[in-house]
Amino acid sequence: MQEPALLDAHGRKITYMRVSLTDRCNFRCVYCMPEEGEPHIPHEEILSFEELLRVCRVAAEMGISRFKVTGGEPLCRKGAVDFIRRLKQLPGVAQTTITTNGALLAPYVDELAAIGVDGINVSLDSLSQDHYNNITRARIPLGKVLPAMARARDKGILVKINVVPLKDYNESDLPELINFALTSGYHIRFIELMPVGRGKLYEGVPQDNIREMIEESFGPLAPLGRVIGNGPAECFSVAGYSGSVGFISAVSKKFCHCCNRVRLTSLGFLKTCLHHNIGVHLKPLLRSKAGDAELVQVMLAAVRKKPLAHEFARALRTGDSGNFLMNSVGG
Ligand code: SAM
Ligand code: SF4
Repeated sequence: MQEPALLDAHGRKITYMRVSLTDRCNFRCVYCMPEEGEPHIPHEEILSFEELLRVCRVAAEMGISRFKVTGGEPLCRKGAVDFIRRLKQLPGVAQTTITTNGALLAPYVDELAAIGVDGINVSLDSLSQDHYNNITRARIPLGKVLPAMARARDKGILVKINVVPLKDYNESDLPELINFALTSGYHIRFIELMPVGRGKLYEGVPQDNIREMIEESFGPLAPLGRVIGNGPAECFSVAGYSGSVGFISAVSKKFCHCCNRVRLTSLGFLKTCLHHNIGVHLKPLLRSKAGDAELVQVMLAAVRKKPLAHEFARALRTGDSGNFLMNSVGG
């Protein structure tokens, strides 16, 4: 059944949903999670795969055609790949991708390729093992992550590298990362540090500096002229390479006017803006006798109240910003 499209009060159509399977993670990236981790959430508080899939099915009936599976670390949740397989099979779902830190990826690559996952984003902030350890505060050898990425690429999966450039942590590693990505056929995306949760405690690297760094070594960047991904990245090609370079500059180049996304947390909160805690808790509905028609109405009403824009600029001035940790929302 085709349900009414998800339109907000500002005329934006919602076509993309990030679905967080868990807020748990085997990493403790400095800008994302506290070192000690987070209080344990009882398993029954987390939406079951059936519940998540029900929301995704209804969302797909309302025109959401692209889904990103995220976390915490999505591969920390047992059954994540089977969830992706089932999500991909829902009517109306055109694209299903995953974002992962890559530490647990290797054993799942062949299965992900077999089910036809449309892309894997790997968060990889440095190729220096020391710097990588300092940022992730995990003890994961890069020798575990890099071969998994290469295998995914060789199996024909679109692999993107996500980097959050941080002053004093990985700024000096960026040229090596760019060179690695371009010579390996990956797409690399620089995500501007967002002042939410732990991100407030660190300083990012201006996107223009990174662009200059790339142009010094690789020559001028040319606008890519096609969209790879779900919208917000400004993408460029580099002569002689199949991969691309992108900048996701949510703070310095706000793209809220064309925001097409909502987020579903593992606790069942449909979050309509990354910055604002505005949305609706779907869990009570999912665990009552409510039918799909009610779910549709609640989701429509929540999306209508989607805030016009984030307020990171104000947050940076006042220090008062998103009172949540990124791992609980999924990026
Ligand atoms: N664990 C998976 C991963 O790292 O890809 C998925 C979840 S993670 C929260 C999703 C993305 O959010 C990652 O690319 C991460 O680098 C990014 N992220 C986390 N905190 C951030 C912050 N404060 N500013 C910008 N990006 C952030
Ligand atoms: Fe975990 Fe991803 Fe957050 Fe790093 S960015 S702590 S890998 S959820």
